Amino acid sequence: MNRYGIDVWGGKRFDIRNGEVVVNHKSKPSIIDIVSRVREDGLSGPLLIRFPHLIESQISLMYDTFTEVQNEFKYKGGFNAVFPLKVNQYPGFVKNLVEKGKKYNYGLEAGSKAELLLAMTYNNANAPITVNGFKDNEMIVLGFLAAKMGQNITLTIEGINELESIVENIKNFDGVVPNIGLRIRLHSSGIGIWAKSGGINSKFGLTSLELITAIDILKKHNLLEYFTMIHFHIGSQIEDIAPLKKALREAGNIFAELKKMGANALRAINLGGGLAVEYSQNENRYHRNYSLKEYASDVIYLLQDISKRKDVKEPDIFIESGRYVAASHAVLVTPVLELFSKDYSEKALRLDKKNPPLVKELYDLYKDMNGKNALEFLHDGIDHMESLLTLFDLGYIDIEDRSNTEILVNLIIKKALYLLKDKNHNELLSIQDRVQERYLLNFSIFQSLPDNWGLGQNFPVMPLDRLDEKNQRSASLWDITCDSDGEISFDIKNPLFLHDVNLDEEDYFLGFFLVGAYQETMGMEHNLFAHPTELSVEISDEGYEIKNIIKSKSIIEILKNIEYNEGEIRSILYDKVKKSKLVAEDKKSRVCEMINTFLNDNSYLKTDIIQPNFFD
Ligand SMILES: *Cc1c(COP(=O)(O)O)cnc(C)c1O
Repeated sequence: MNRYGIDVWGGKRFDIRNGEVVVNHKSKPSIIDIVSRVREDGLSGPLLIRFPHLIESQISLMYDTFTEVQNEFKYKGGFNAVFPLKVNQYPGFVKNLVEKGKKYNYGLEAGSKAELLLAMTYNNANAPITVNGFKDNEMIVLGFLAAKMGQNITLTIEGINELESIVENIKNFDGVVPNIGLRIRLHSSGIGIWAKSGGINSKFGLTSLELITAIDILKKHNLLEYFTMIHFHIGSQIEDIAPLKKALREAGNIFAELKKMGANALRAINLGGGLAVEYSQNENRYHRNYSLKEYASDVIYLLQDISKRKDVKEPDIFIESGRYVAASHAVLVTPVLELFSKDYSEKALRLDKKNPPLVKELYDLYKDMNGKNALEFLHDGIDHMESLLTLFDLGYIDIEDRSNTEILVNLIIKKALYLLKDKNHNELLSIQDRVQERYLLNFSIFQSLPDNWGLGQNFPVMPLDRLDEKNQRSASLWDITCDSDGEISFDIKNPLFLHDVNLDEEDYFLGFFLVGAYQETMGMEHNLFAHPTELSVEISDEGYEIKNIIKSKSIIEILKNIEYNEGEIRSILYDKVKKSKLVAEDKKSRVCEMINTFLNDNSYLKTDIIQPNFFD
């Protein structure tokens, strides 16, 4: 049975039972069952399903692992974590996160004024807030206001001008000052596609000279008592632990040096984010070369070692890992709308006496193919197709024979795959990319998997049922945008095999996993496809409960969001109906009603057929 790497990327969160993907928690519901229940209520199109228990388990794992390692090493500093809001700001996620994080005093990180206001609203009382990114005076004022409201906030300074802005604001807030952090610029850089966050040429952080200047300014204005944290972030999805260790050594020594310069209140090192998620769908190839336990051990061992050697107190540790906490909680379910080759049936052939010999030969290959010659005949069939297509380009064969060619080759492929079904995929792999089936999925890659489009990031994908049946179609996945980039093509190094299904008789759904980090707000409304319908599923010992369904935005809402005027759109459309001589007077209001129904519905495709009933 093909497990689609679920044991690699799933990390025991999901499992397979009776041929269906199940959520491995309490009553272990199957995802396809959840999907059927939601669709019974008339919600078609793609679904984003959130599992709050997976937010909770990631938070617990993070805190418990660090606490365990701290105890093991008898580490004296504390451990704190904040969730970076940029990773997922959706209420369906954030509200769950804040609730599940309460017992750990889990805080929030903000990188913009909007995120800071969000953090100030929803953060648990006393849980830390850290603020990174470029700040204007307003953002700094917001930081002071948060401090005034009694929030435990640290403003991380990215440049000397931000520090000057803090100094200027002090007189306005009667001595209530937010904690100050300094972002340090490291020589060691991150790796991978997000490497720009670290290194001497990175976008962020103070150089050694700027750090010295900052300490002078803090001293001069009696602010050293508020300087509590240094911060760095070497990039997202750190798959190799080595650069992190290097960064830690650098940061640990900077921490000790700053303390020696008189930074007495300095007590914390904030490591930023970067804990990697295992996205690999290949049992033989892991992307990440460390575990959370190893990460925690390296951090604690190195900071303890430096503290001992430099004779400073062991720092409190802050981490801002977001991807690691958020990725697994959301699953995107996409209905398969069509298999492109479904129309290639024998009935559609138009064979007559004048067919070119190669077409006749193709037909014979199809008819005479058996288990022994299948692979050979398949090769021959593909060669014949190429010759025939060339003949068409040169004007020697007509469009009917072009069609016969396409149909016959598809029939040959299907028959060969059936005859060879007991062979393993490797034997077929050499030809798989030439015989692939295209699956049309009801979703937008631009909206729901922007990192796949922009960065080539792979997300684990698999069918939600039939996992005990043979899957033999090499698949490329197409979304419903009319953009040629809206495709996940078949990759011979990472092949995806799906089932041959008859969609007239049965539904077929694919699940994309680990989509809970970064994909939602970064998704774009290309072709005006909006965020899919979302819901949360709370699983208990007895079953599960579907909560917080938020339907995908209607077409009129999408248009309003890009500043069209709803009234104007309606009045122009209705006016055109009224003026049309082609619509009978007594049908005009019905036509307007239908247009209204479309405006109020979302843009995803429907498979049910609506009957206009104009003439009843
Ligand atoms: C993006 C970012 C994070 C989160 O990174 P992950 O890879 O999602 O853990 C944390 N801190 C800062 C400063 C960031 O910019």
